[in-house]
Amino acid sequence: MSAQTITREEAVGPYFVGVDVGGTSIKIGIVDDLGRTLAYTSFPTEGEKDTADAIRRTTQVIHGLLATAGLERSEILGVGLGTPGPMDIKRGFILDPTNIPGWRHYPIRDRLAEAVGKPVTYANDANAAAYGEYWVGTGRNYPSLVMITLGTGVGGGIIIGDLSVEGENSHGSEIGHIAVDYGPDARMCPCGQPGHLEAYASATAVIARTTEQLQAGRASSLQAVLAQEQKLTGLQISQAAEAGDDLALEVILTTADYLARGIVILMHTIDPGAIVLGGAMNFGGSDHPVGKQFLDRVKQGVDRHAFPLLAQRIAIDFASLGGDAGYIGAAGLARAAQKPPTP
Ligand SMILES: [Zn+2]
Repeated sequence: MSAQTITREEAVGPYFVGVDVGGTSIKIGIVDDLGRTLAYTSFPTEGEKDTADAIRRTTQVIHGLLATAGLERSEILGVGLGTPGPMDIKRGFILDPTNIPGWRHYPIRDRLAEAVGKPVTYANDANAAAYGEYWVGTGRNYPSLVMITLGTGVGGGIIIGDLSVEGENSHGSEIGHIAVDYGPDARMCPCGQPGHLEAYASATAVIARTTEQLQAGRASSLQAVLAQEQKLTGLQISQAAEAGDDLALEVILTTADYLARGIVILMHTIDPGAIVLGGAMNFGGSDHPVGKQFLDRVKQGVDRHAFPLLAQRIAIDFASLGGDAGYIGAAGLARAAQKPPTP
């Protein structure tokens, strides 16, 4: 996804840099005081190389983007950095991210701050994306939100009144590991515990649940796909559902049921203004028939199980910033860190 950019003339200072580190690529954007992008690029993480090399490349890219945007270094107030966990946010360390094997126990926040010469605000990538949606995305009209990211895994972020809930041990907002099934047949989560939301609502889980049904002999147009390609993708399941395949639609709607259980727990714990569903697995979004059915089913589950007042007032919708949410949110967290704390 390419960011929509504004010109220097349209922009409102001060400015912030957002850096969103993923397993495959690092996305960097220069963002103005209203959350709009002036310049943006992405480049390969090359996660097998060491972290110092990535910091060198990141610093060069930031300088290049400043030139593109026509900004002086002095106009940048701060840098926001989002990385995958596990991490130690208070000490500014990235610990041992599974997707970036070369980065281990590295003081990434302070090294980047030294290299760029600006204060760096460090956050979990999912929390940064949640802040992006909160600041200028789907959640922009709400004082608090929970974002649930449905991708290879299930991630999440919780933002309450400009504050990202990181927790005492950098494990706040681990929404994928909310238990939604304590039954004897609960599915195993990649973290090693049974019954967690991620074991039902990630793309990996949706594919696994569909594949099991096919192997058990369920009639479906996906039998031919599985026979030919040996494995399925989330997109194929979504397309099959759109073409009227009963099994594919059933798996997708069951996913919505499990997701609703997790959302109800979050609503009764936090009572947020909005629930924002992000990540690649959005079944085409709310403009698409399958995406709309998925969203409607989530809302039905919430209506059935949440306090009526909360179910009536909560806004539940798909995210709107796509792959830009992470760096925009990281820049937003850097901006928030510059503000005097509210008493
Ligand atoms: Zn888990």
